[in-house]
Amino acid sequence: MHVPALIEAKRDGHELTETEIKRLIDDFTQGLIPDYQISAWAMAVFFRGMTAAETQHLTDAMMRSGRVLKYPQNSPPKIDKHSTGGVGDKVSLVLAPLLACDEIWVPMISGRGLGITGGTLDKLESIPGFNINLDEKRALQQLDQIGVFIIGQTEDICPADKKLYALRDVTGTVPSPALIVASIMSKKLAEDLDRLVLDVKFGSGAFMKTQAEAMQLAESMTAVGQRMGVKMSHLLNPMDEPLGRTVGNALEVAECVDALEGGGPSDLVKLIIDLAEKVSDTPRDQLERRLRDGSAWKKFVSLVYAQDGDATALERMLDLHRAPIVRAIQAGTSGTVKKMDACLIGRASVLLGGGRQKAGDAIDFAVGISAIKKIGESVQQDEPLMFVHARNESGFQSVLPILRKAAQVG
Ligand code: URA
Repeated sequence: MHVPALIEAKRDGHELTETEIKRLIDDFTQGLIPDYQISAWAMAVFFRGMTAAETQHLTDAMMRSGRVLKYPQNSPPKIDKHSTGGVGDKVSLVLAPLLACDEIWVPMISGRGLGITGGTLDKLESIPGFNINLDEKRALQQLDQIGVFIIGQTEDICPADKKLYALRDVTGTVPSPALIVASIMSKKLAEDLDRLVLDVKFGSGAFMKTQAEAMQLAESMTAVGQRMGVKMSHLLNPMDEPLGRTVGNALEVAECVDALEGGGPSDLVKLIIDLAEKVSDTPRDQLERRLRDGSAWKKFVSLVYAQDGDATALERMLDLHRAPIVRAIQAGTSGTVKKMDACLIGRASVLLGGGRQKAGDAIDFAVGISAIKKIGESVQQDEPLMFVHARNESGFQSVLPILRKAAQVG
């Protein structure tokens, strides 16, 4: 295969064949194609896009670059959710155990924080002992016992995506719809699912800034999933303000514990039930009841224990991870909250240490923002708009102007 010719073909807007795409991905995964050639090809894809068929072949090649999960015959339906990521998006921690209350399996392979968006794995690791690195055998045993696992991408699942994503991250080629679809769907399809619900976000705190872009992404992912035999559904959700009232790892786990114990902020609970309803055969009122009657909570406790976590810590997350500085930001004026910018709040959380500024940075589980007012709520001038949890004074001072700008009361 002559790689420069493939790069040139894509550069000039031609469609690559299934064989060409497969060879490109296989050879790249095996280290036979240098990074600079794949980077040039990714940039050509970024500008020229891919046809639906090319996107499908790319997803398939990336999925087959590693292992695809294999289940015993006659195992229950396998169901999962994928969110394109948002600020304060902690849905997976509640949705996975809620779905697993049914006779289904939830084999959830999740990710870490990316840019300003938090990651399920980082949140789970704030629970003492929680192990996100189960091998396949143990993960499958856990499915058989409790119907759910939440783990990280293993070395042998979609290695092509791991390598390609690392290059995209540093070559300005992350926001290519075709590359995003193939990256996300290859990992989800490696779970060999029966049903998948997509939560595609749009707005200031999301990858996709407009609803139209989010719709296109949802349609493209749906087409790829359907062609591979997965029953797909999706929701488009705004991400202009954070989801729920907390942003930050331990703070978000504590908010999930509230939701699993029948409380929690109404926007978070509504989204969880909306998504569950899309993929579950259980009626909405029963799903809601499972959050109130302790069923989902019990399943979450089993999940934490099964993955070596200390479930007795769950109701003490805020004591275990207490930031030295917890300080209110006052409204300063009375009125209605007009803006609570998700992007700026996400950025503040990263700056506080709740996310990574470069690969490999350690996460500070205790920091973040809590008690965030929602758009449309009224506040008095001396009332807090939010509380900042900071490791030190300089951390607090560095985010203060950002958070003041994030909120607007009118
Ligand atoms: N998440 C992924 O896994 N891949 C992308 O390309 C974008 C978001």
